[in-house]
Amino acid sequence: MPRRRPRALREEQALSHVGGPTPPFRIHGLSTGASLAVHRIEGLSRGSSIHPGATDRALRRYREFLHPPGRRPLYPQEAFCSCSWCSFDDVRHARDVLNEVLERLPERARGELGRLVKPLDALFLRRTLPDPFAHRRPWRARLWLYRRLADRSEWG
Ligand SMILES: [Zn+2]
Repeated sequence: MPRRRPRALREEQALSHVGGPTPPFRIHGLSTGASLAVHRIEGLSRGSSIHPGATDRALRRYREFLHPPGRRPLYPQEAFCSCSWCSFDDVRHARDVLNEVLERLPERARGELGRLVKPLDALFLRRTLPDPFAHRRPWRARLWLYRRLADRSEWG
């Protein structure tokens, strides 16, 4: 009995990680049920850009990007580093992550998260400018996020 305990404990921890809540337990603006659904998707999506906590982080990043008051246009920036942590520096990656999560969520939770994201999308479109050369980048041009003018000055 005592010999089996560590293993049972590990299995319990593994289970709670995949199926149950991981901190942050409640995603700001979402019900407990929808937060749980999000955590479940994140736990099951290992190896992709959706890791535990990714949705909360993506939402915060999206809000933070749109936060500066006023009418000055905002320019998304490419991330310096493409690792799964730094990728969020590019707000468009954050929005991509939200999209992936939305696609995988069950209907009700998807509706809730969608209602949080929609006004942010509207604000994003108001605060960014259309890129007149978007058609030259066909693989990105079909994604509306990448059709907006970005700040590429750091990249020459
Ligand atoms: Zn990095």
